[in-house]
Amino acid sequence: MRRREILKRLEKFTCPHCGALVGCDELGKLGMYSFKIYSRHVERCQDIVEAMRAADAEEAERLRNDLP
Ligand SMILES: [Zn+2]
Repeated sequence: MRRREILKRLEKFTCPHCGALVGCDELGKLGMYSFKIYSRHVERCQDIVEAMRAADAEEAERLRNDLP
């Protein structure tokens, strides 16, 4: 596989939320369940990111209310 193809594949399997490479290795080698693993990760990761954002917002609000 060409370097460009490898990079393209790595990009495709990089989680947009945490930046982790999921479902394939650094050489772009895929397994039978690569895409399934990847989509499951992204779905979970999104939930985590959203929960963290929500927590941050709450914390931010609390901090704002504590302001003198
Ligand atoms: Zn992720």
